[in-house]
Amino acid sequence: GRSVHQIQSGQVIVDLVSVVKELVENSLDAGATSIEVRFKNQGLDSIEVQDNGKGIAPEDFETIALKHYTSKLSSYEDLTSLDTFGFRGEALSSLCALSNFHIITARAEDGAVGKRLDFEVSGQLRGTSVSAAQRGTTVSVENLFAGLPVRRKELEKNIKREYGKALNNLYAYACISVGVRISVSNQMPKAKKTALFATQANPTTKENIMNVFGSKTLLSLVQLDLELQMAPSSTRSFMASATEPSMEVHVHGHISKPIFGQGRQAPDRQMFFVNSRPCSLPQVAKVFNEVYKSFNLSQTPFIFANLVMDTNAYDVNVSPDKRSILLHDQAALLENLKASLTGLFDTSEY
Ligand code: ADP
Ligand code: MG
Repeated sequence: GRSVHQIQSGQVIVDLVSVVKELVENSLDAGATSIEVRFKNQGLDSIEVQDNGKGIAPEDFETIALKHYTSKLSSYEDLTSLDTFGFRGEALSSLCALSNFHIITARAEDGAVGKRLDFEVSGQLRGTSVSAAQRGTTVSVENLFAGLPVRRKELEKNIKREYGKALNNLYAYACISVGVRISVSNQMPKAKKTALFATQANPTTKENIMNVFGSKTLLSLVQLDLELQMAPSSTRSFMASATEPSMEVHVHGHISKPIFGQGRQAPDRQMFFVNSRPCSLPQVAKVFNEVYKSFNLSQTPFIFANLVMDTNAYDVNVSPDKRSILLHDQAALLENLKASLTGLFDTSEY
């Protein structure tokens, strides 16, 4: 019955942010170069994510929304060299239990005939029907948490904040995803659809940032290009050994200049990534903000920082939403980052 599945599926989909995040990640995993996110009533009525990715094969229709079904992981070893966002097969199954959910998908291989897939709350395929569609996949989530009165009430009460958080999360995906057009819109009841922002399949993150936050933002940003070199030390993680090579972390991105003219204020957005995966890195953020503060007391910086490092240097598998990342050598990284950032601000000319 419904209740059993609702209890079991409270893991990945905990709020509006996680819905949007899981769907956009699925579209990116499907190789989409264009992703359209459509909110209705800020997500209370529906969230729809349409992509032009590879689509879903007919032989997968039956299994796609079953718990733990994933097409992205072929062996346990894959977990250490993960190059897709998904690997647990929980998002779609959760959404079946937590919303009115359907998919429309079309593949070039199938003559571009669109299929609409409807599911039981258990994730079992209820039926398919022919539907007009372009190549790719559209996932529709209506009435999120409808069967769970308490959570639905909570969502309704906090929708402004939840929606704001979802948009912030979308900024991060839109800015980091080079070569992908990501557009976001919202439609309030009895109103016209409002376009919120759109990137243009740009070759650089800089252009993405310009699309999302406006071209003025760029005037007040400096390029981040730090190479952190960490010597092996006894404080290193369990992997430490005398023969271990030093670890390198590259920090690529953009940050506001600590001093700049009036009217050039960058928005105080802060986005962090590990190997291009958006994540929350509170300790890293703290270092950035502290160093910045020692140069400019009055503003919070705009930060877009992608930490590029060996996949053995961290673990994304610590929380179901994969937003928390465990950096095995955080202390050394923070220390190096602090010195390096201070150096950057000291030498940069403004
Ligand atoms: P995971 O992403 O961990 O594999 P999900 O529940 O998010 O689990 O998705 C289940 C499966 O559904 C995916 O492995 C993929 O095969 C398919 N799928 C989901 N979304 C899309 C999409 N937008 N395009 C193509 N296939 C998709
Ligand atoms: Mg997924």
